[in-house]
Amino acid sequence: MACMPRDPISAAERELDPAPLDAADPLATFRDRFAVPDPDLVYLDGNSLGRPPLGSLDRLARVAGQEWAGELAGAWNHWLDLPLRVGDALASAALGAVPGTVAVTDSTTVNLYRVASAALDDRPGRGVIVAAREDFPTDRYVLEGLAASRGLAIRWLDGDPIEGVSIREVQTALDADVALVLLSLVSYRSAAIVDLDAVEAAARRTGAHVVWDLSHAAGAIPVDLAARDVGLAVGCTYKYLNGGPGAPAFIYVAPRLQARLRPPIQGWFAQRDQFAMGPAFDPRHGIAGWLVGTPPVLSLVGVEEGAALIAQAGIEAIRAKSVALTGYTIALLDAELAPFGCSLGSPRDPARRGGHVSVRHRDARVLTSRLIERGVVPDFREPDVIRFGLSPLTTSFADVRRGVDALRELLTG
Ligand SMILES: *Cc1c(COP(=O)(O)O)cnc(C)c1O
Repeated sequence: MACMPRDPISAAERELDPAPLDAADPLATFRDRFAVPDPDLVYLDGNSLGRPPLGSLDRLARVAGQEWAGELAGAWNHWLDLPLRVGDALASAALGAVPGTVAVTDSTTVNLYRVASAALDDRPGRGVIVAAREDFPTDRYVLEGLAASRGLAIRWLDGDPIEGVSIREVQTALDADVALVLLSLVSYRSAAIVDLDAVEAAARRTGAHVVWDLSHAAGAIPVDLAARDVGLAVGCTYKYLNGGPGAPAFIYVAPRLQARLRPPIQGWFAQRDQFAMGPAFDPRHGIAGWLVGTPPVLSLVGVEEGAALIAQAGIEAIRAKSVALTGYTIALLDAELAPFGCSLGSPRDPARRGGHVSVRHRDARVLTSRLIERGVVPDFREPDVIRFGLSPLTTSFADVRRGVDALRELLTG
């Protein structure tokens, strides 16, 4: 029998080849600015804990070895303003916020409690909080605690498991009794993006405050807090912002609310003349009034380095790569995984999708463990979701290809 020529590579296969995508990626060199001790590990969990920037590792060694060891308590002269200095850096690099509106302090959970509590104080007589039933657990727990201690009701939005909370649902839930709406801009499960402008407009009409949790948005999508006249927001710095494990969260209070809302914790870092150690609390104006106690200096410098990398790459370029990475993942899912029982758990429309892709499969939990054994690290979310977290500064298209190939091999046994 005559020897058949090899099939030429089909157009479809060519489109799914990661090499040209990586070659054309303007952010490809940013991976070299991060510690990647095992280049063979396919890390798809940067939306849970971002990789360490090399600059952070240097900085940590210097702050500990020189400033802490050498300057001792004298270093507080330049450490004291870190929460505000890093807040301003983050505001401009990732949040589209003006100086003096962001502080980096405490955890997302604690900041959420503080802004929600102050917002509720500012709407006395209203009895309802609106929030999403599928939101991140700590957000729901905080609200349940606030509601219980104040005798308020929570109106839960069901949302669509893939497309997230719709503006129709929010509009239906809003009335003159709603004091506060809390929503995550990007869903931690499906990556669905909520229509922020529409929610803000609807809440303004009925006089409710809105608090945005930006944990899965910051560093992945532009949020433009100032231009969109957002009032209140909080979020993590250790996910797409690569701040490091347990790095303090950010808190954003718009200028129009800074004089109006009263922070529920009056700590000495919010005191105007902190070291006078005076008898009476006389709060600092602006976002400094939301500081509480002694800041975690070693963690804060990690956030500063993370924000610097976001600034250098540019949030618009980061978003463009994020859209390309998630789109590529979905194209591979359709071609390679859908025939084996996987389905897309994230919005198909890139405008409605954040930085990760949820792949649904009946055996998602076991498959995630098997992937990790093979050096591919996504994470699992109940009940059937494998999250492919795609960090634009460190994830390559080749990583995605290898992750999908490993999953397909497991599925075809
Ligand atoms: C990651 C995440 C948190 C985590 O809160 P911590 O206080 O940092 O533990 C909270 N909310 C959302 C939406 C998150 O994605």
